[in-house]
Amino acid sequence: MRRKTQLIHGGITGDEQTGAVSVPIYQVSTYKQDGVGKHKGYEYSRTGNPTRHALEELIKDLEGGYAGFAFGSGMAAITSILMMYKSGDHLIITDDVYGGTYRLLSGVLSRFNLDVTFVDTSDVDNIEEAIRPNTKAVYVETPTNPLLKITDLEAVARLTKEKGFTFIVDNTFSTPYWQNPIEKGADIVLHSATKYLGGHSDVVAGLVVVNSQSLAEELHYVQNSAGAVLGPQDSWLLMRGIKTLGIRMEEIESNTHAFVSFLKEHPEVTSIYYPGLKEHTGHDIHALQARGAGGMISFDVGSDENAEKLLKNLKYFTLAESLGAVESLISVPAKMTHASIPSDRRAELGITEGLVRVSIGLEDVEDLKEDFVQALKGE
Ligand SMILES: *Cc1c(COP(=O)(O)O)cnc(C)c1O
Repeated sequence: MRRKTQLIHGGITGDEQTGAVSVPIYQVSTYKQDGVGKHKGYEYSRTGNPTRHALEELIKDLEGGYAGFAFGSGMAAITSILMMYKSGDHLIITDDVYGGTYRLLSGVLSRFNLDVTFVDTSDVDNIEEAIRPNTKAVYVETPTNPLLKITDLEAVARLTKEKGFTFIVDNTFSTPYWQNPIEKGADIVLHSATKYLGGHSDVVAGLVVVNSQSLAEELHYVQNSAGAVLGPQDSWLLMRGIKTLGIRMEEIESNTHAFVSFLKEHPEVTSIYYPGLKEHTGHDIHALQARGAGGMISFDVGSDENAEKLLKNLKYFTLAESLGAVESLISVPAKMTHASIPSDRRAELGITEGLVRVSIGLEDVEDLKEDFVQALKGE
């Protein structure tokens, strides 16, 4: 089955009993048992729900793994993955990781003595140098947020396999349509499905795919014990969104390439971070491990004032956190998504005051370009 077909026909589709072509929303908490422990596969919806199960089967197929899991948010998914570790374990994490992940690790899980080292994983030597006797896993984002840094998945997988570490990848930016980390040797892939997978700014969710039975058993144990599950209505909404993931990603790809070409010619734009650009650091590695460059671009407009002008005057770019929706979104990482990272650390990472991040949507790209020009000319 090819990718676009898999989006429609992967996982569990429709309903055997009624012939409904969309999976029904099983808005139910518990299930009748014919005798103690005798049931049709479902006993309580925290443990398993047919609508959620259909979504979990779908994401498993799309990432090519052993089992899929759906959670109430991307952060719930990440928290559940990290709950497979114990006090005293050490993890190596990409340094410009999603701000919420950084906060979870440094502000919450640190209370439970989960030991972490943040390194620039775009250089595998940095990972190797951070290894300690208690290291258990390597967790990477590629491309990263907001500088679109690229980590070589196969190179990290070689290292983690050799050392017996678990290799975890946050695949939110690329989606399974463009990048499949399990194929490259990852053990666990996760998504904030709130972004491209949902795609319409109407659902908050997280998805995970693991590549082995033992990881599936461990993660299901946490999912059922901690209970951060996705509800049936949101599971259904996500399946609806995923059906159009292919055409959305293709259209977003061509819009983004066109918008980047336009930015390159714009006198006020100083640096552009986009994996689709030949001159972008990591472009060649990204091109080897992903089929598309995605819809995220970060660039510097030179100053805080210019960034403010954009935020004030743009009509078609909505000022909002999040990304990956049908509508184009704009954010200023230093003040928004990365505000929870201390300012000296932000400066270290290159997240300047004039750095703007856009998520290109499905509008006509000519309107997006005109909008940008008028916004920078304004007061
Ligand atoms: C948004 C995001 C998350 C967190 O997901 P939520 O659904 O907001 O909880 C994690 N990783 C990345 C890369 C994200 O963009």
